Amino acid sequence: MSEQTKDLKRLEVLKEQLNDYAYHYYVLDQSLISDAEYDRLYKELLAIEADHPEWISQDSPSQRVGDQLLEGFQKVNHAQAMYSLGNAFNEADIQAFIKRVEEGVGDRYSLMCECKIDGLAIALTYEEGLFIRGATRGNGQTGEDITQNLRTIPSLPLRLRQPVSGEFRGEAYMPKEIFAKLNTLRDEAGESPLANPRNAAAGALRQIDPAKAAQRQLNIFMYNCSSHSEIVADSQAKLLEEMEAVGLRTNPLRKLCKNFEEVWEFIQRVNHQRHQLPYEIDGIVIKVNSFTQQEKLGYTVKAPRWAIAYKFPAELAQTTLIDVEWTVGRTGVVTPTAVMKPVLLAGTTVQRASLHNVDLIEKLGLHMGDRVMIHKAGDIIPEIKQVDRTYRKPDSLPISIPEQCPQCSEELIQIKDEVALRCVNPNCPAQRLAQITHFVSRVAMNIDGLGEKIVEQLLDNQLIKDPADLYYLKQDDFLKLDKVKEKTANNLVTAIENSKDRGLDRLLFALGIRHVGAKAARLIAEEFGTIEAVMTADQDQVSQIDGIGEIISQSLVHYFEQETSLELIKRFKKIGVKTDFPLKKVVEDQLNDFAGKTIVLTGSMERYSRNEAKQILQNLGANVTNSVSKKTDLLIVGSEAGSKLTKAQSLGILIMNEATFLEKLAESGIKNAK
Ligand code: NAD
Repeated sequence: MSEQTKDLKRLEVLKEQLNDYAYHYYVLDQSLISDAEYDRLYKELLAIEADHPEWISQDSPSQRVGDQLLEGFQKVNHAQAMYSLGNAFNEADIQAFIKRVEEGVGDRYSLMCECKIDGLAIALTYEEGLFIRGATRGNGQTGEDITQNLRTIPSLPLRLRQPVSGEFRGEAYMPKEIFAKLNTLRDEAGESPLANPRNAAAGALRQIDPAKAAQRQLNIFMYNCSSHSEIVADSQAKLLEEMEAVGLRTNPLRKLCKNFEEVWEFIQRVNHQRHQLPYEIDGIVIKVNSFTQQEKLGYTVKAPRWAIAYKFPAELAQTTLIDVEWTVGRTGVVTPTAVMKPVLLAGTTVQRASLHNVDLIEKLGLHMGDRVMIHKAGDIIPEIKQVDRTYRKPDSLPISIPEQCPQCSEELIQIKDEVALRCVNPNCPAQRLAQITHFVSRVAMNIDGLGEKIVEQLLDNQLIKDPADLYYLKQDDFLKLDKVKEKTANNLVTAIENSKDRGLDRLLFALGIRHVGAKAARLIAEEFGTIEAVMTADQDQVSQIDGIGEIISQSLVHYFEQETSLELIKRFKKIGVKTDFPLKKVVEDQLNDFAGKTIVLTGSMERYSRNEAKQILQNLGANVTNSVSKKTDLLIVGSEAGSKLTKAQSLGILIMNEATFLEKLAESGIKNAK
């Protein structure tokens, strides 16, 4: 293979991986890898694209800010695009940035250094001083309307101290103390801990129920505004002062610097004290202070040329390896975890680190009792970086690799081309536990209150064997469990019942089919619409879906060839778990009867819930509103329609019944509408 072909192949792999990580990070608020690892892969992608600009495609992560938007929230167009920031990792990167600034604006400039808050970018719109809307950054142009959740943040002024209008930008974050408390509670409930305050804040702001968002006790720091805002300032320093004056919270830990030396000194100082700060920061943002100069420097597709984010390096600490634990995951993969003497690292006490797989243990040449250097990748997940062999005792033994499953004693195998050790016993209790815990998790069927500890007890008491069994549980079954009282039992039964409606995409993901992640599950659901269609699809049909490769399609088809899978689906259907997906994707600008129209729904429909119908219409480009007015183009009526119907009739608005609605949907390409 030529170098060129190798590079192109590598680029494709990087694009796919980074897009998948970004989807999890921005849409699902999950970090599948550390930020440092993401940044390393991203840099590699940039290097290949720099050598071959002709290979840069629209779907490259280098061309996108943020990611696609989550369903379930109204979309908001930003008054002005919200950008990401270019990254700097060392002194040389900052010097190069300053050099570019000098080339652009000469040597008379100053640089505002601010803390890079590890939270979620938000845009707050005020009209004559009144807070009217708050949104996430989303894909940079369009964000999600999270007004109700933002209103729960006490430091966010619902009215400014002056009647100014504008869109103000900043960061919503979860204070470290609240984050630590939240994770203790999650641990007690048997839920997996949230990886970092950013994920926690993002999760809180995307709660459907604002009361839940309020429990997360978020805070904000504001640092910018769109050019349409009525704030008079000619520099970043002045802007921050003006924003403070109208009552917006800004971070006082900042410094206006004249040159690289001052910038670097500030970075060192903040890095030194950052673990004492009540909020998490992951770097320092350096911005050209003068707005005239900012304008002169302009933007790339993704980020301003007048600012850069310096990211703190991952910190290192030394400790001793005491033990290696082997745990079995839901797909049977057996993963080693290092247990170490507790050590303080990046502000927290660390005593466990993932060793990922046997290969890594061998690469590190790890022995029991070794002195190891650990670091927190992107300040989140501790990892063993290297072994200091000078401290190794002569009689120390290499880590022994298990040959049998630590849970069920089945012989472990290593599948060709894979580094993972795997237990292939379908009845392995550890796998069952992990599978069902995944099934009930927030990102899958989202069964509130049902964490790992309860699942474990249900399995131990032989009340369930697989996820379908959950739907057949009664309140009395839960009362048999330790510490479960009537109220909890009742809530659990209700939460399980409520989860029946999640739809095909979530169900496919929840089943834990190998390689079928949340994104793939959604694409498959969008394509086929019903579980029956998925079950009978062949590999060719599946791999024709844009975004689904051979590995996924093979795994999906294989899954539905198993008798146990078919049996499982049968039982889901029998008890009323929803196995279809009404939100079939339609090409954006495809003409249909609903695009561009303002539509109101009323009465109850047989085929779809109100929310589902709304989603479908929005996907088709309609604007769905709640009340009938002169602006309404169309009223869609189900049975028992009331005053909206009368009003629409009096205004002479077009009215459509459910049967015609379904017909039109079918014509518009919604596969399972009829
Ligand atoms: P970024 O985090 O590198 O920086 C831009 C963001 O910084 C802005 O959008 C803003 O929200 C924030 N910010 C905080 N304080 C600020 C201040 N004072 N002034 C201006 N902005 C401030 O960029 P991004 O696009 O949000 O995310 C990219 C980064 O996210 C990557 O470099 C990577 O580290 C991480 N990421 C990780 C994964 C993963 O799987 N772990 C996936 C995707 C992205």
